[in-house]
Amino acid sequence: MIGAIIGDIVGSVYEFDNLRRTDFEPFFHPRSDFTDDTVCTIAVAQALLDDVDPAPVLLDWCERYPHRGYGGRFAQWISRRSLQPYDSFGNGSAMRVGPAGLLARSVAEVADLARRVTVVTHNHPEGIKGAVATAEAIFLARQGESAERIRDHVARTHGYDMDRTTDQIRPIYHFNETCQETVPEALICALEGRNFEHAIRLSISIGGDSDTVAAIAGAVAEARFGVPAEIAETARGKLPADMLEIIDRLYARS
Ligand SMILES: [Mg+2]
Repeated sequence: MIGAIIGDIVGSVYEFDNLRRTDFEPFFHPRSDFTDDTVCTIAVAQALLDDVDPAPVLLDWCERYPHRGYGGRFAQWISRRSLQPYDSFGNGSAMRVGPAGLLARSVAEVADLARRVTVVTHNHPEGIKGAVATAEAIFLARQGESAERIRDHVARTHGYDMDRTTDQIRPIYHFNETCQETVPEALICALEGRNFEHAIRLSISIGGDSDTVAAIAGAVAEARFGVPAEIAETARGKLPADMLEIIDRLYARS
């Protein structure tokens, strides 16, 4: 979860100003801040921890932290307050699903938890697939599965083209807010990374919807490598107390 939040914060300054390199300094840009990816991840964590309907919890957090870069149709979902799903396949389903991968105790449960927090908005099959694939990758990484095994599982179970490298993706990748063109690329960054920070750097380097690519990659990279304490502390320093409380509750449980 903190891995996704770090990815969001680091990527926040590059979403509309792609960098396409790994050697940027400093790792946390002075203007970097948490965005919608973090707010929604916190909401998902709270909904799972309290075992309640995720829709009103998402709405509550998004109203508490407005103007954090919510996507167009999700912003409408917030302002309408109808709490009805809208058949989305936006990458928002994958960016916020990390807590499902951390709290699940089996592969079956991870898919179930991922679906439960997704269908309240992103009930299109591709929206669900993006969230389930991400949560399963996190779960398998926590179990110590190799990058190769996770890559095979995602390709076989979900049909994503995982047979690419970041060097192949980088020259042709473009801004895209769908699961279909964000999730496999983000997972490839996480699985190609040599350590947590390298995975985040790779995910910034391919461009696109940088904070969300890095949030998805960061969640999986955290499960693979853990997060260096100094990086986690810097990210926590950019978060308000109500978010830190949810994060601490999640790690006390997972
Ligand atoms: Mg964002």
